[in-house]
Amino acid sequence: MIEQLVLATHNAKKLAELRRIMADSGLEVQVLGLDDLPAYPEPAETEFTFEGNALLKAREAAARTGFPSLADDSGIAMDVLNGMPGVRSARWAGPDSSDQQNLDLLLRQVADVDDPHRTGKFVCAMALVQPYVGEHVIVREMPGRLGREARGTNGFGYDPAFIAAGHDVTNGELSPGEKDAISHRGQAVRAMVAYIHQLNAGDDQ
Ligand code: IMP
Repeated sequence: MIEQLVLATHNAKKLAELRRIMADSGLEVQVLGLDDLPAYPEPAETEFTFEGNALLKAREAAARTGFPSLADDSGIAMDVLNGMPGVRSARWAGPDSSDQQNLDLLLRQVADVDDPHRTGKFVCAMALVQPYVGEHVIVREMPGRLGREARGTNGFGYDPAFIAAGHDVTNGELSPGEKDAISHRGQAVRAMVAYIHQLNAGDDQ
């Protein structure tokens, strides 16, 4: 039975999102963020997969806090770049690069690629580590393509140039609710909340 858990992040938006989706699903679990707990040195994201990095962060949080711990890792994978930027999405233009610099670099790298080959996907891995119990990883994707220029001011990162499959506007032009409904993160968080529901109901023990 999970009554309290840690989401291994300092990002207030990610915390609010998880709490909101849990509340919507009727799951009564207290969610703590890393700002609510004694600080510890966070691990470098040294793995080469989203699953690996999410597990690394969740394992560290579980070992440091003793609570069941969740962590996520996400990024954009372009087909024409063999899945890059991938786990390097946040640092694509360099160690301290901004969202704008990362997006500008990616747009330049695929500037000569024709429309049918500008396909890719956002990926989110979310890991749950329960001390002395086990681990569970959920991966969800949002397929789409990269447009030719940035449009819209919503979202973050690569959103202003990414057009989700079945849409003709960029993620930057979607409302937050519209993006949550189809996004890799939204899907992963909802699936993880459903999984915790099952655990707490004893279905998966
Ligand atoms: P993180 O896993 O939240 O640290 O995200 C890693 C990086 O992937 C971000 O810095 C963004 O560059 C990119 N990214 C992940 N999810 C999204 C998204 O939903 N929209 C746009 N960019 C994203």
